[in-house]
Amino acid sequence: MELGTTTLTQGKQFVTMSPLSGDFKEVVYVGYGIKEGDYNSYGNMDVAGKVVLAKSGEPMNESGSFLFSGTQEPSKWSNLSEGISKRLELATELGAKALLLVDDKNFGRYQQYYRRMARNNSGSMRLKSNTESASLLVLNSEAGKAFHSAMDKDNTGQSVALSWKAMLTSNNGEVDTENVVAFIKGSEKPDEFLVISSHLDHIGVSQGEVNNGADDDGSGTVALLEIAEAFQQAVKDGNGPKRSVVFLHVTGEEKGLLGSRYYTDQEPVFPLANTVANLNIDMVGRIDPKRDGDRNYIYLIGSDKLSTELHELSEEINSKYTNIELDYTYNDENDPNRFYYRSDHYNFAKNNIPIIFYFNGTHADYHRPSDTPDKINYDLLTNRAQLVFYTAWEIANRANRLVVDKATTP
Ligand SMILES: [Zn+2]
Repeated sequence: MELGTTTLTQGKQFVTMSPLSGDFKEVVYVGYGIKEGDYNSYGNMDVAGKVVLAKSGEPMNESGSFLFSGTQEPSKWSNLSEGISKRLELATELGAKALLLVDDKNFGRYQQYYRRMARNNSGSMRLKSNTESASLLVLNSEAGKAFHSAMDKDNTGQSVALSWKAMLTSNNGEVDTENVVAFIKGSEKPDEFLVISSHLDHIGVSQGEVNNGADDDGSGTVALLEIAEAFQQAVKDGNGPKRSVVFLHVTGEEKGLLGSRYYTDQEPVFPLANTVANLNIDMVGRIDPKRDGDRNYIYLIGSDKLSTELHELSEEINSKYTNIELDYTYNDENDPNRFYYRSDHYNFAKNNIPIIFYFNGTHADYHRPSDTPDKINYDLLTNRAQLVFYTAWEIANRANRLVVDKATTP
């Protein structure tokens, strides 16, 4: 992109996966780019067909607390992932052609993705949709200031006149892929569904070497198959589950949770309103070298976030049958790894469906060709698959549907 004599380059001052080209005479600066209650960064400006410029963060009031919460707690608008998606949705809804989001933290993340793609000669993927979204460009603050020098202090929407040029073309194509869905009909409550999931894709070939993905997510894949076989054996024995159980083997996890998002957002095969829980298994065959303590452990993430009952049930079942050390390190909302947002269960959780994510943590072979089957701890994989099975069995068979007592507003 060119602004007078300033050149901004993809991967250096901004990152985008969308095309944008043309000669422009303005950007519409929209402060934080937020619409929430009475607060509206867009005011009554018409941004249809225009390029809008917004910054990350959210407004504070004079006492130094956040305007929306009235406390020191930031809202979703400050969340690294949701802050972007909510702003892009809003800009799209208002008909904007593109959103230039100035956000140093997300710029750092996007720059990493971009470099990895450039190195592997790969690209980004997203779900095909009928509605065209506004183009998203994530800018660092240097680039943001080239568009509007006072943006740090300025929260007021206004048109900024400047002549600039964008020359961003894309080379997009369509790719076909599929989720695999298997289903056992419940004997007493067939219209209530428990979803057990893992992902069938991995990251492919990099620099000529196959990334094997034995742990990520071969381990979850075989756990899912074994659990399905156990449920089906129960059906054959005349003792099938009371609720329906859906075995969801999703594609495109490594490309941004695409298969699970397709299932929840575009084509839920079974109604989400009747989906009682999702147990997601992603990496359960290895040991985290950073962790001290019993090797017979598993990290649990998300079990208490929406349903206290699910968390308690999970603990009880484990002490009754499997006695694995349940480690909640990564369940902390402030954990910088943000694993709660990083596997397929998240697409269920965002719909207020209680979830548990079963995960052994990362290791030196994570996303490398060396993630091979000989390094799997098969005894631990067995224990962990059994824990998921017993938990699933209890959810599918208990008298009452799990209570969601901590739903969040979408
Ligand atoms: Zn994975």
